[in-house]
Amino acid sequence: MKALKERILNDGRCLPGGVLKVDNFINHQMDPLLMKLMAEEFVRRFAGTNITKILTVEASGIAPAIMVGYLLGLPVVFAKKSKPSTMENMLVSEVFSFTKNRTYTICVSKDFLSPCDKVLFVDDFLANGNAGKGIIDLVQQAGAELVGMGFLIEKSFQKGGEMLREAGIHVESLAIIDSLDDCSIKFKE
Ligand code: 5GP
Repeated sequence: MKALKERILNDGRCLPGGVLKVDNFINHQMDPLLMKLMAEEFVRRFAGTNITKILTVEASGIAPAIMVGYLLGLPVVFAKKSKPSTMENMLVSEVFSFTKNRTYTICVSKDFLSPCDKVLFVDDFLANGNAGKGIIDLVQQAGAELVGMGFLIEKSFQKGGEMLREAGIHVESLAIIDSLDDCSIKFKE
């Protein structure tokens, strides 16, 4: 998606270890107009897919997910990263975080993810696909159906995209980065 790629080139910053910092328009300060354009692009790319619910992980996925949910008129659920003591009936999975180098728990209430749901997962980044794997686990535990996964930015030099597509999942990424070597951002054509 041209507008996102241009913004990444203008405002994105490379950090050591293949990390892209997009704190001024996605991960800290957010640009709602770009968020809306990106959500519209997801709606186009998943047109014809029967979706009943948008699922994401707190916190960075919430903004794009709610935009997609708003445009489609669908509920948005975010997986929580710690198990609230007040919630029962939780589905729980473990995720290894590439940026934080530690494992954390994600959980969703069974009240909000059930066998009748057809789920579109939306998140900011796809790297090694660990968050994606955790989501697949939660959706399977719920007996729901995963109909697709949409990412704002995919880093194709990490293995998540390959792994999810080989598993037969409909994956859409709005900007695919082939390399961040030498702090130069190279997109897939
Ligand atoms: P994965 O689970 O696919 O290995 O990594 C995706 C998650 O890690 C995303 O939800 C995102 O929060 C974080 N992440 C992975 N790579 C990057 C990156 O280059 N930049 C930022 N800002 N977050 C990343």
